[in-house]
Amino acid sequence: MNAGVILPGATLGVLGSGQLGRMFTIAARRLGYRVDIYSPDSDTPAGQVGDVEVVAPYEDLDRVRDFARAVSVVTFEFENVPSATSRAAAEVVPVRPAGEVLHITQQRLREKTFLGSHGFPVTPFRRITTLGELEAAARDLGLPAVLKTASFGYDGKGQQKLRSVAELPAAFAALAGAEGIYEAFVDFSKEVSVIAARTLDGGFAAFPVFENAHADHILDVTFAPAAIPEALSAEAVRLARGILEALDVVGLLTVELFVTRDGRLLVNELAPRTHNSGHLTIDACVTCQFEQQLRAVCGLPLGSTELRRPAAMANLLGDIWISAGGEPDWAAALSDPLVKLHLYGKASPRKGRKMGHLTATGATVEEAVERVRSARARLVPA
Ligand code: AMP
Repeated sequence: MNAGVILPGATLGVLGSGQLGRMFTIAARRLGYRVDIYSPDSDTPAGQVGDVEVVAPYEDLDRVRDFARAVSVVTFEFENVPSATSRAAAEVVPVRPAGEVLHITQQRLREKTFLGSHGFPVTPFRRITTLGELEAAARDLGLPAVLKTASFGYDGKGQQKLRSVAELPAAFAALAGAEGIYEAFVDFSKEVSVIAARTLDGGFAAFPVFENAHADHILDVTFAPAAIPEALSAEAVRLARGILEALDVVGLLTVELFVTRDGRLLVNELAPRTHNSGHLTIDACVTCQFEQQLRAVCGLPLGSTELRRPAAMANLLGDIWISAGGEPDWAAALSDPLVKLHLYGKASPRKGRKMGHLTATGATVEEAVERVRSARARLVPA
């Protein structure tokens, strides 16, 4: 074994405490590791299954250093951790992926500038800080377009579709002083993602390409393998590999891509962590995305990403509890023995809140999608 490998029995530190941290912790425990969780919240999805749940602000750098002293490596499940937090942890232990990866990917302008300057395909974009810049962008890049806040955006939050020049003043006002990014609208036929891991010595492994369907800007259903030509899948993985190498990622990173109507790939967004579209790997791949993140950050060899069977995942949002008027009918969903239930331990179901997911496998991808959609429909009694 190489020096510097973090072996089972060691304690791993996670910044962030949501469902991604929970599923990482469950995978890590299976391999015999201990996991400490750091976030400002208590009784969290990850904290419930971790060894230690540190409840402190990300800005409390002394607490961050104390947290780091108790672990062998720090990783993330949430990318909006301040740069100063990852720097403070890195004074004490390795942080993987490095804070610089987090810094680039947590701000859309930095991310798209990085991608564009390294030759990765992205939709044309502009930085917006004044109404004049917005008007110029609309003139130069055209309409329709999407105006997004440069920071702290996810699941379509802080995003507006622009169709006409008349909408520009109100759209600018809605930024409320935040820095914006103007993106030419992509007329896409599909959205896909590549989740890939890279080790300290440059080892690389990508999962099969996942195809993603959104509802109200939130991921709704993912299935694998994606229904795209093999050459396009290979190209998506090649792009992902180039991106992980350009960013010198040690750990796991997700690349979200658009497939345009004329069959090209454009990178939409990067996430320096596991991803909602990878949840089906738990039930359908030889190695799940969470174990792969662990292997990459601990310096272990990467596991096989082979898909054992076609699979589909459906998110369970708080909306289902609201429609059911209380607890969903879990037994009805599980009446299909090929359906697996994952719940995140969140107490209050709110509209749009990710509470859990279902995964189904099948002989074909169409069958898996049908099984997971009908299982979800059975959660709400007619
Ligand atoms: P994002 O938060 O950037 O991942 O965007 C959320 C969703 O909005 C994406 O998954 C797309 O469905 C849509 N979207 C984002 N950017 C664009 C764009 N430039 N053109 C068309 N649709 C977009």
